[in-house]
Amino acid sequence: MEMDSARRKSTGDIVDAESLWDTHPVDKDDYECHDCAVKAWPASYLRGVNLRRPYFKLSPNASHGPSCGVLGAQTYLERAKAAPLGTGEGGFPLPWPDRLVLAHERPAVDVAGTGRGPDAASGNRTRAGGGGPPRGGGEGRRGHAVGTLRPICRAYIAFPHDRAGLPLAVPQCVGQTFDQVFRRLSGSEITVHREPRRLYYAALQWCAPTVNEAAAEWLLDAGEWDAAHKRRGIAYRVRVVWSHWTPRQRESLRREVEIARDEAKQHKEKAVKAWMFFVGTQDADDPALLVVDRFELVCCLMAQMIYPPRA
Ligand SMILES: [Zn+2]
Repeated sequence: MEMDSARRKSTGDIVDAESLWDTHPVDKDDYECHDCAVKAWPASYLRGVNLRRPYFKLSPNASHGPSCGVLGAQTYLERAKAAPLGTGEGGFPLPWPDRLVLAHERPAVDVAGTGRGPDAASGNRTRAGGGGPPRGGGEGRRGHAVGTLRPICRAYIAFPHDRAGLPLAVPQCVGQTFDQVFRRLSGSEITVHREPRRLYYAALQWCAPTVNEAAAEWLLDAGEWDAAHKRRGIAYRVRVVWSHWTPRQRESLRREVEIARDEAKQHKEKAVKAWMFFVGTQDADDPALLVVDRFELVCCLMAQMIYPPRA
């Protein structure tokens, strides 16, 4: 089974597979399942060689622990497309990211004594916000902290019927659930948002980004709709201010966008799109412009977005 995240043993953080693009060199022995701690191998992370996203996999003979949340997740993910998962007695059955904690805002927490294996209990390890799924199964899962936006967006996509009930906290963004925190940009008009800093998302237009040393700018398939000509009028655009990013980080974002577009193209159904997600600030003078400056706060994922019918 492929996993799109794993725990990095040297830091205790749960990391996206995409973070392998920015890791050099990749220490293949540094990763484990974030739930049961079985060894996880990084895969498909070589730039220019691997054409798909990175992921983690187990050794051929290895398996997840008996109560590992990764087991059975596939069944739940299928079910989640049609109905809420979290209404039963046991609470939400899968681990989910319930808060974003950026690296410089993270408290140093000693994990010794948290019941983890001896390899993780030594040294000055930190865990994102002290979070992490509980050991053992049966009961509902708790949320855990993550250091990038990507796993939060994956959960938003994966659990459409639970968005209103699942707690989520993103720094400097209003809202306490996935539904409240995420803000899809309007497809028919440019809206001035009362809270300029939000977790915005929209599908991408197909055109190439405008790129220079200071920033990259992508046009979004959202904004004014020119009904007379049946086409997009003034579109929202996301400006990623990356002058302080490393070349690797810039390349990773461009690569992620390209891969998401290729993935969407291969699907052919119109509903499958490449979606740009970002915690950005709406410009005070130009409401069509949204600005993001941290690489942890922007990602691009292919998805067929599901919206439950309104009650
Ligand atoms: Zn596991």
